[in-house]
Amino acid sequence: MGLKTKEEYIESLRQMKPTAYMFGEKVTNVVDNPRLRAGIEATAATYEIAEKEEYRDLVVTQSPLINEPVNRFTLPPSSIEDLVARVKLNRKLGGYVGTCHQRCTGLDCLSTLSIVTYDIDQKYGTSYYKNFIEFLKYVQKNDLTCNAGVTDVKGDRSKGPSAQDDKDMYLHVVERRQDGIVVRGAKAHQTGSLSSHEIVVLPTRALSKGDEEYSISFAVPADTPGLIHVVGRSTLDMRELQGCDIGNVYYSKYCPMLIFNDVFVPWERVFMCGETEFATEMVLRFSSFHRQSHGGCKAGKIDCMVGTALCAMDYNGTSKAGHLKQKVIEMIHRAETLYGCCLASSYEGRKEPSGTYFIDTVLANASKIHEGKEMAEATRLMVDVCGGFVADLPSDRDFENPEIGHLVKKYLKGADGYPVENRIKLFRLAEKLALESADTVSDIHGGGSPEAHRVTIFREVNLEEKKQLAKRLAGIKDGK
Ligand SMILES: Cc1cc2nc3c(=O)[nH]c(=O)nc-3n(C[C@H](O)[C@H](O)[C@H](O)COP(=O)(O)OP(=O)(O)OC[C@H]3O[C@@H](n4cnc5c(N)ncnc54)[C@H](O)[C@@H]3O)c2cc1C
Repeated sequence: MGLKTKEEYIESLRQMKPTAYMFGEKVTNVVDNPRLRAGIEATAATYEIAEKEEYRDLVVTQSPLINEPVNRFTLPPSSIEDLVARVKLNRKLGGYVGTCHQRCTGLDCLSTLSIVTYDIDQKYGTSYYKNFIEFLKYVQKNDLTCNAGVTDVKGDRSKGPSAQDDKDMYLHVVERRQDGIVVRGAKAHQTGSLSSHEIVVLPTRALSKGDEEYSISFAVPADTPGLIHVVGRSTLDMRELQGCDIGNVYYSKYCPMLIFNDVFVPWERVFMCGETEFATEMVLRFSSFHRQSHGGCKAGKIDCMVGTALCAMDYNGTSKAGHLKQKVIEMIHRAETLYGCCLASSYEGRKEPSGTYFIDTVLANASKIHEGKEMAEATRLMVDVCGGFVADLPSDRDFENPEIGHLVKKYLKGADGYPVENRIKLFRLAEKLALESADTVSDIHGGGSPEAHRVTIFREVNLEEKKQLAKRLAGIKDGK
């Protein structure tokens, strides 16, 4: 089959028949729904840039598995160069779409499974790695997009899966059959699930003995029977449906809740089933990969915010204001430190027994903590530079109104030499970059809440080595 063009990708989604709801109604045509289409377009950009000369070397790579050129979003990293290329590609795409392109999470699942299924087989003599490799070949040959089904709805957070009053609060096996398993539960915040061909499920937390039925990983098509996508609200979602005041006129993001209402999974699509001690490894690998992906992508989003701030300075007539230049520099250094941390986590990567390369977890988690705080700061700085119309610009419909349109435009004029229409478009973009909840909240919670990043750092970093440094300098020699 080979690489898909953007058009072939969109057409392939059109062939699928997922069960989807939005605003209480069933969506029968996902691809042509303007709200969903804006999200699909963002993922389509990962196919589109594979066709562009300037990006091709970064996106298209050779798969040793199928011996064909593939899109990097289907290739678990098999070298330090691959780990580095992930970050560079995410930065380029973040800048290109100005929001989440939604395809990194699937790669993060594939990369995780390419390590952990191998490790489980080594311990138990199971055949999960073979199952996974067959699935990976299918994904690569058809250039598919995968969604990350990781976050369970979790019910009462003070209780583990087995202690919940309602067992369905964590996705679990309700039936084991000769030909496969039946699963029930729900995954929340599923970025781009309707832009995906396949849903790849991993556990959301560490598990222990007694949690066997929750210790599952598998892949199912996004339109498999029993799977229901309920599209979540986002602050600016009605704009796409109304066809005006959109801001980012090409791309957007949406995150459904995914309900598994007794979904059948054939054994050949199961990658873990009951091996509780490997849930921790799955979570650690996935979250670290994903936190690294985030940093690359969000550095690209800050690039868009920097561009927006600079254009606003031109349009407002403030391009010579020293304090605004300083604020732009503050934004740039945040993008670069985030990017640098993710690159470092790649360069410090290592080869795992399966042959897949894994990043440095401490650096990947440090980058995510940085992102959680500094994206908010970069947003604040952009809004500061742009001005108050980020909050309350009149609607496109007001500008088109025959009675007040000319008046509203007259009073929105900024610096000489720049069309007022451009200034209006730019304020809208700034609003979208700053205030679209589906994207901005992911700076904080995407890839796990901030506390999860801190816990991972404390667990993964070599604390004893640091104590030894201090003891040596203090002249403490008794080892206590
Ligand atoms: C925009 C967006 C996109 C996302 N995309 C995806 C996706 O594509 N796929 C996917 O699987 N997930 C996705 N996520 C989910 C993301 O990983 C979760 O939001 C994150 O792990 C936090 O889980 P939660 O939302 O259930 O919040 P909670 O787990 O309820 O956390 C809320 C707060 O409570 C704290 N807390 C929770 N439980 C405890 C406890 N037991 N003890 C002490 N403190 C606790 C947390 O640290 C946090 O501060 C996305 C999230 C967002 C916002």
